[in-house]
Amino acid sequence: MRLILLGAPGAGKGTQAEIICEKLSIPAISTGNILREAVKNGTEMGQKAKSFIDSGKLVPDEVIISIIKERLGEPDCAGGFILDGVPRTVVQAEAIEKAGIEIDKVIDIEVADEAIVKRLSGRRVCSSCGASYHTIYKPSADPTKCDRCGGELIVRKDDEPSTVLERLRTYHEQTEPLKDFYAARGKLAVVEGQEEVADTTALVFKALEA
Ligand code: AMP
Repeated sequence: MRLILLGAPGAGKGTQAEIICEKLSIPAISTGNILREAVKNGTEMGQKAKSFIDSGKLVPDEVIISIIKERLGEPDCAGGFILDGVPRTVVQAEAIEKAGIEIDKVIDIEVADEAIVKRLSGRRVCSSCGASYHTIYKPSADPTKCDRCGGELIVRKDDEPSTVLERLRTYHEQTEPLKDFYAARGKLAVVEGQEEVADTTALVFKALEA
């Protein structure tokens, strides 16, 4: 199964990707996590990406395309993968297509902008492994620590309200056109994001079986 998860920031792509990847035993690939790791490690790519990420803008397509081609070429992707947060522009989607990377299905998780702002204010991420939590919808056992690896949970800098509005604007302008792109190829399934994580998961699996 080669899947793409589409949706606004905070729609629940990362959370659903973690669940699907465990159930189907395929890797979940988040360009956001790859970029944050590069920023943390101070690599050249991280230094270039930081100002875009912090201001809620998209990192240039060529950087993303090279990350994704390299990552999808690794052996663990041979049996399938879930792309979380990529592609985010039509140029990226076209590059994936041109590289001969087949996609089976694109799941678009729809959540209204007002709910996104509320959700992102409660989001916490593990500073060590990147796992995602929410103070209300998906709390960790210890509010300061990651259930998976014990790493410290932090608020992402780009989850601050002013940056969230810019990210939503960027989403509507540059990423939402991908719905038409994949609908035209008969690959799009739309799922309404629910308050409860498990309810969204049930809809996602229903869409995958259809
Ligand atoms: P995310 O964790 O997916 O919300 O990504 C966090 C930030 O990383 C985004 O706001 C962008 O600045 C950058 N980013 C992640 N994935 C992409 C992508 N596919 N294209 C461009 N920028 C990206």
